[in-house]
Amino acid sequence: MWDFETDPEFQKKLDWMEKFVREEIEPLDLLFHQDQTYNPGNQSLMAIMKPLKQKVRDQGLWACHLPKHLGGDGYGQVQLALMNEILGRSFFASTIFGTQAPDTGNAEALAHFGTEAQKAAYLQPLLDGDIVSCFTMTEPQGGGDPSVFQTRAFEQPDGSWRIRGQKWFASNARWASFFLIVAITDPDAPLINRFSMFVVPAERAGIKFIRNAGLMFDLPGEGIEGYIEFEDLHVTREDLLGDVGQAFAIAQHRLGGGRVHHAMRSVGLAKKAFDAICERALSRTTKGSLLANKQSVQQLVADCWMKIEQFRLFVLRTAWKIDRYNDYKAVREDIAACKNLAYEVCVYIVEKAIHLHGSLGVSNEMAFGEMMRASMCMGIVDGPSEVHQSTIAKQLLRRYQATEDLFPSTHVPSNVRKAMEKYKDYLDIPGDKSVWVNYLREQGKA
Ligand SMILES: Cc1cc2nc3c(=O)[nH]c(=O)nc-3n(C[C@H](O)[C@H](O)[C@H](O)COP(=O)(O)OP(=O)(O)OC[C@H]3O[C@@H](n4cnc5c(N)ncnc54)[C@H](O)[C@@H]3O)c2cc1C
Repeated sequence: MWDFETDPEFQKKLDWMEKFVREEIEPLDLLFHQDQTYNPGNQSLMAIMKPLKQKVRDQGLWACHLPKHLGGDGYGQVQLALMNEILGRSFFASTIFGTQAPDTGNAEALAHFGTEAQKAAYLQPLLDGDIVSCFTMTEPQGGGDPSVFQTRAFEQPDGSWRIRGQKWFASNARWASFFLIVAITDPDAPLINRFSMFVVPAERAGIKFIRNAGLMFDLPGEGIEGYIEFEDLHVTREDLLGDVGQAFAIAQHRLGGGRVHHAMRSVGLAKKAFDAICERALSRTTKGSLLANKQSVQQLVADCWMKIEQFRLFVLRTAWKIDRYNDYKAVREDIAACKNLAYEVCVYIVEKAIHLHGSLGVSNEMAFGEMMRASMCMGIVDGPSEVHQSTIAKQLLRRYQATEDLFPSTHVPSNVRKAMEKYKDYLDIPGDKSVWVNYLREQGKA
């Protein structure tokens, strides 16, 4: 059964969210640098966010990605997709709704793999929105290829470990209360079992900040992408998340949902840029007519709309599949495609928005720079597009088989011969036949 309608009761919640995000949250994008969304020490921002978070809770919309037993409302992915689309309009909205990455993925990892003690120490305050967290896997020599990771947990005679190595682009590191750390525990094991994951409080001795790397346009030292060194960081069995060698399984679980949520928010970002395109087309006159009346601008508007709608439907279908199969692995290629499309569509639409606004578009008086930066990040964060394209291709190619024949299975003359054999009793009956039939019959006579 295909159904493109939103349940009217849920639509009321979406309408509330839409108004709330536009009126109450979007102004924060103008008052604070977007990095501050992670900074629990920003008293001014926290004073504004606290009552807003309460309003979200009052509506039953807090941390909606979580199942009921973890304090969320157990919404399915389709509903989350529609909600995240609204949240994607503002850099602060996810935090105010308790769905900010990387905390969402870290919470999922702790919920599924954490011990009761770990849940009490880290998960509950994270779910309450009182602290933020950091996930460290990428290293300076590579992020998309785990075989180049070097950070190592050296086992000690008492069964504990000392971690040595560097991590790069660890979002949120400067504000985080705890770190999830991926480190090699068995360098000789196959890649899939080589790494273990540890959960460690930020104040533990041995975590050294080399610097805070920033994104483009950030001032030196002001970013939130931590460049970190672990100097003999001591971790014990109590700090191990899941089993020894299980880091990859945990990371995959963690990233599956995260990638779809990124894509869902990207729909919102693309739509925001599209709104700007349409408003500008209807407002700017040049060479005697509105931009909206120029054919090339009309093409652009139609083209952008089609791209967003295709992307949006694809994301919604992926969300529907996740709900349906309840297994991220069963929708691997869909999730990878969502991630790729998010990057392509957002970069395309935001670039068009910049161009259509001319000098104003490239100026620092519009927010397009930040939107473009966020769009570019979509092609890198959680693995570069090429890696996801590889995943898609591998999944798809599993459904096909090589032919053992000399020619492909769609080779026309070979198939015409088979079809002629199948219907041989009818071919002498008068009536036009295809040119291949005539040709092969002539050849047969010769
Ligand atoms: C905003 C942001 C936040 C991040 N947050 C975190 C975080 O919290 N924790 C964390 O651990 N990491 C984080 N990362 C790191 C992220 O996971 C890595 O940047 C990503 O995996 C890519 O690794 P890399 O930067 O080393 O690029 P590389 O792997 O060096 O890739 C660079 C380019 O090389 C090409 N390339 C790479 N692999 C292939 C391939 N297989 N085939 C063809 N071409 C290829 C692509 O063009 C690619 O864009 C974050 C990144 C960004 C941008």
